[in-house]
Amino acid sequence: MKKGIAASKGYAIGKVFLQEHEEIVITEAKVTDVIKEQKELRKALDASKEQLEKIKEKAAIEMGAKKAEVFEAHITLLDDPEFTGAMKLEIETKSINAMKAVDSVTNGFVAIFDSMEDAYMKERAADIKDVSKRIISNLAGNGGSAFAITEVNTVVVANDLTPSDTAQLDRTKVIGFVTNVGGRTSHAAIMARTLEIPAVLGLSDITTSVKTGDTVILDGIEGHVLINPSEEVIAEYHERNRKFIAEQEGLKKLIDVKTATKSGKRIEVCGNIGKPEDVLTVLANGGDGIGLFRSEFLYMDRESAPTEDEQYESYKFVLEKMEGKQVVIRTLDIGGDKTLPYLPLPQEMNPFLGYRAIRLCLDKKDIFKVQLRALLRASVFGNLCVMFPMISGLQEFIQAKEVVEECKKELKSEGQSFAEDIQWGIMVEIPSAAVCADELAKHVDFFSIGTNDLIQYTLAADRMSEKVSYLYNPMHPAVLRLIKMTIDGAHKQGKWVGMCGEMAGDDIAIPTLVEYGLDEFSMSATSMLNAKRVILEQE
Ligand code: PEP
Ligand code: MG
Repeated sequence: MKKGIAASKGYAIGKVFLQEHEEIVITEAKVTDVIKEQKELRKALDASKEQLEKIKEKAAIEMGAKKAEVFEAHITLLDDPEFTGAMKLEIETKSINAMKAVDSVTNGFVAIFDSMEDAYMKERAADIKDVSKRIISNLAGNGGSAFAITEVNTVVVANDLTPSDTAQLDRTKVIGFVTNVGGRTSHAAIMARTLEIPAVLGLSDITTSVKTGDTVILDGIEGHVLINPSEEVIAEYHERNRKFIAEQEGLKKLIDVKTATKSGKRIEVCGNIGKPEDVLTVLANGGDGIGLFRSEFLYMDRESAPTEDEQYESYKFVLEKMEGKQVVIRTLDIGGDKTLPYLPLPQEMNPFLGYRAIRLCLDKKDIFKVQLRALLRASVFGNLCVMFPMISGLQEFIQAKEVVEECKKELKSEGQSFAEDIQWGIMVEIPSAAVCADELAKHVDFFSIGTNDLIQYTLAADRMSEKVSYLYNPMHPAVLRLIKMTIDGAHKQGKWVGMCGEMAGDDIAIPTLVEYGLDEFSMSATSMLNAKRVILEQE
């Protein structure tokens, strides 16, 4: 049995299709007819574009327009004069073959993006490589195609799967995939979850451990892959799979159920979102509200900060779609692992302990005020709660509220309206805030516990580090005590407490959190129905 990262839930029992990398060897050759070489390049670019248009159409049907956007970005790259124009120029100035020109321009771009700290920028390097691979495949006459799968019940095994590889998978034949590289937040994992195809990633040597035609069991729940298992084991997993499918189907009946414990305590199950459109999936899964809108995603994937009007439209969209249900929007949480290309941050030894989130917003009030004004203006369209990230003590909350008051004054003098009943809260994700929760609760309207950070700060175990992941334990008594202190502190002052870290959707943690009296659980939309099931079983 091989152990990897469980990236998309479910089981797949089938035959391996090993995606072998026939690496195209790229050598430099001098050309005499530069124009002819440039024409070859043009042909390969056109063919790549045509293929990507088709993949995009297929992806839009199977995964929705949002997920298909990645291919639009790939198509845009093909039209980008800085990228493909540089290839043409490279052929002309160096009199070299098109394949070498594509390769060296790609390497230059990838080196720039790869050297950036930001995970988003690193992903752009993966996009560039993906597009370049296609151009080179077309130049080599391979037609840019990665798969020739003819059998049903196929489990694709590959070193890595790019977004276009993933979108090209024939879903009538492919029932799961396994890779050497990648993690829970890689493109391949996100695509797998959207397509609801089970996947285990990051097995490091799976491509050398199996061959095409081997039988494998992919366990996307435990993150295991079993190679050529016995008939008994296969039968056992068929049974597990049958149960899993029945459970998933059964959960759908909970969509419209209002969640409460057996003793009748009503508990809200809400969704976490990153982009305004995500609100639709939360509604489709019967969400009671939005417990966390990570507003920093509005600031990513662009060259300058979103304007007040742009932000206002996004917040208004979410509030209107939720039709009066509670929407908790977190103000800009940038820094740590999240950076913006247009907002250079100082190099720090420990960015997670450094200049980020509310610390940055209180320092750069001009940026903060644009967001607060947009939030205030949008507040008239629904039930808005605003929370500040990374609050370590009362002073920061008071200062943030002072900026809010400044914005309110400005808006009033401009004759702009805003709701008077907005709730103002904080994320409890720094141990000091949890320890002082009873005092903080006198000033705020609510708390939302951010366990993703709270755990890493409490146990001094970096949430990004695989090496110390064994220490990163949500059920550690110190973490549980801090959570209990936060809930008790809030309740003493009659305030409500939510949780928007991953722990809120964790089967093992939910019973304890219900027992502690947590009022609202917020998580990714696809975990909500299972959380409802667990909560409904509690006393
Ligand atoms: C958290 O820290 O738990 C949280 C929800 O915020 P993020 O994961 O965005 O840091
Ligand atoms: Mg956090």
